[in-house]
Amino acid sequence: MPDRALGNVMPVANFRFYAELNDFLAPERRFTEFAYGFLDVATVKDRIESFGVPHTEVDLILVNGQSVDFAYRVQDGDRISVYPVFEAFDIAELTRLRPEPLRDLRFVLDVHLGRLAAYLRMLGFDTLYQNRCADEFLAEVSRGERRILLTRDVGLLKRGSVTHGYYLRATEPRQQLTEVIRRFDLGRLAKPFSRCLRCNTLLAQAGKDEARHQLPAQVAVLHDEFLRCPYCGRAYWKGGHYRRMRQLIDASIQASVVAR
Ligand SMILES: [Zn+2]
Repeated sequence: MPDRALGNVMPVANFRFYAELNDFLAPERRFTEFAYGFLDVATVKDRIESFGVPHTEVDLILVNGQSVDFAYRVQDGDRISVYPVFEAFDIAELTRLRPEPLRDLRFVLDVHLGRLAAYLRMLGFDTLYQNRCADEFLAEVSRGERRILLTRDVGLLKRGSVTHGYYLRATEPRQQLTEVIRRFDLGRLAKPFSRCLRCNTLLAQAGKDEARHQLPAQVAVLHDEFLRCPYCGRAYWKGGHYRRMRQLIDASIQASVVAR
């Protein structure tokens, strides 16, 4: 222990962040251990967020080799290792920082992510999206319905009420889709063309007679199989649009594997 009697020794903790958590750090702190001097008492959660890393990205914190929870108070001399959410690693014997991993992957998307929302629905994932929505509402829906909140807003993920969130690195919707497929291993869970792109409702088989009044005449002639949204009534069939979506899905899943 430093000699407090001297009165001029600042407590210092050493931090190291792993894997994609480094995306949030200032360049000089990435992929290296760094010392941080402090005078105030703070929880490890607050300290981590002060470096720019949202707590929703963190799944495991080791202090001097022992796992701790977010409420741990940082002490002088601590060596703190901070790890991202491991969906695939077995660390059951350590203190995970969140409830059980989500089995049913469901999403709620921040505003401005409408294209990504349509893509995720196209893959069959339950995805809530509104183009106007308050941050508090998004946080509440994420917590209450156990939905993963996808956003480009780090501040939103720092809200204490958000337990399952993910910060999208990509800005272009197709790349965002690839990123989300990779991050949550969605490739094997996808059920393409099972959900309405417009309203998120599960589609039902429909006979040609039921769908006929909504179909272009040519489509009614060429196709026999239709799906229809029981909520908003939109009809779907395997035309050119379907083939383009199929290609997009296959390409995105392929890209997510290649990018690992
Ligand atoms: Zn619909």
